[in-house]
Amino acid sequence: MTRYIFVTGGVVSSLGKGIISSSIGKLLQARGYSITIQKFDPYINIDPGTLNPYEHGECYVTVDGMETDLDLGHYERFTGIRTTRNNSMTTGRIYQSVIEKERRGDYLGKTIQVVPHITDEIKNNIRSFEGTFDFVITEIGGTIGDIESAPFLEAIRQLRWEMGKNAISVHLTYVPYLKAADELKTKPTQHSVKEMQGMGIQPDVLVLRTEKHLSDGMRQKVASFCNVDLECVVQSEDMPSIYEVPVSMQRQGLDSAILRKFGIPVGETPAMLPWNRFLELQRSAKKEVRVGLVGKYDLQDAYKSIRESLNLAGIYNGVKVKIDFINSEDITEDNVAEKLSGVKGILVCPGFGQRGIEGKIIAAHYTREHDIPTFGICLGMQMIVIEFARNVLGYKDANSREMDDKTPHNVIDIMEEQKNITNMGGTMRLGAYSCNLKSGSRVADIYGETEISERHRHRYEFNNTYKEDYEKAGMACVGINPESDLVEIVEIPEKKWYIGTQFHPEYSSTVLHPHPLFMDFVKEIAKD
Ligand code: GLN
Repeated sequence: MTRYIFVTGGVVSSLGKGIISSSIGKLLQARGYSITIQKFDPYINIDPGTLNPYEHGECYVTVDGMETDLDLGHYERFTGIRTTRNNSMTTGRIYQSVIEKERRGDYLGKTIQVVPHITDEIKNNIRSFEGTFDFVITEIGGTIGDIESAPFLEAIRQLRWEMGKNAISVHLTYVPYLKAADELKTKPTQHSVKEMQGMGIQPDVLVLRTEKHLSDGMRQKVASFCNVDLECVVQSEDMPSIYEVPVSMQRQGLDSAILRKFGIPVGETPAMLPWNRFLELQRSAKKEVRVGLVGKYDLQDAYKSIRESLNLAGIYNGVKVKIDFINSEDITEDNVAEKLSGVKGILVCPGFGQRGIEGKIIAAHYTREHDIPTFGICLGMQMIVIEFARNVLGYKDANSREMDDKTPHNVIDIMEEQKNITNMGGTMRLGAYSCNLKSGSRVADIYGETEISERHRHRYEFNNTYKEDYEKAGMACVGINPESDLVEIVEIPEKKWYIGTQFHPEYSSTVLHPHPLFMDFVKEIAKD
């Protein structure tokens, strides 16, 4: 039997619903239950693949090639689950599916309406995991009161009615602190819960986001004003790290409160040993190591998975990775030494389009010549390849076809199957593909195996015409896709650490299983 937990947010956005959903998932897993976490985004885009990272932060890619919200990254990092396209849904996809059914004649004779057709489609999607997991946690993006989220809330209302004791609602709100009055205010929470009640949903559990500790009296007040049991009012105080949140929730008994709501015997609180061991390492890591993140989006969320992967790898290597964002648009031949001074290594970021690429190439040139550890991911790998062509192979006009459609030295070329694509959405080479590693290479050593599978998101590729040139000059093609012969990894063996991957290893780094490439990169730069 599958049980459902609906997570909504009120008062303001950015409260960390994704972290709370992931924490609930983690705590239930620790009790031996199987879980999955699903995100509904109320915007009309089919997926966030075409969104600018400034709008939406990083685009996270599932193993089966769906471009999704970055919260799915949290779900995977916290719980180790592997998400798929069913774990991410947008208003756009819901409507698309309903409209396709209408054209096919599935509803012949009927007027298609938000209720029941759109809401039924949402309900079917939530139920798509029925029987597969013990718990399905469904997070609704946006904030209560948004026009866009109304159909999702109506679907939840209906499901709770239909499922009875097998569905609960967790509502996350904000308790602001007013400095002048030196008081924490619960009124916005009361209003938010009223709004939920007005839509026919009584929250079972309230998670109060707060910068200051809430007294039991305050929790009691919220409980009685909002019709929620006192043990079901928990607080989510600011923590030094998001990974402390599950244990903070466990300490307050959130998981037992949830189980009791479902009428499930609670039993002993699990020790969560590996997680707590990780937290111990995190708390004790003192030595700081600076890494330069060479990219063009000066926004925390734009490279979320990369930042977290570096951070996690640092913790397991006993260091605190301090990330210096270095805007590649500002890097020139004249200032590169100054820009990179103090960093022990650089990570050249993924990306699209011309803006900021020359700075990435200059940075990769500098780190290659000064033997500073360098990790290029996707576009970053392509920039490493272009730099090598320009400065070692002597092709001054080397470039990617993405940036220059005329250069005779297109060392990065458009993939054959991408040539006739006119639709922008969801048409890149997406998701997991296998890759064979050359035995004896650095990467084979790092992975400890020669057959791997990693996730992709790109249209351009290493141009195999130049492969021999590269290998002769010292850049080795050490990871190859067995079906297409596509170069997936390059490395310069004679350097301390100079590796580029066409795929995105950051998507599969988790708290309990940090990615080997990030682990090894940080190990190298953490050396004295
Ligand atoms: N723009 C490049 C391509 O499409 C790289 C994409 C990326 O970095 N994700 O191939």
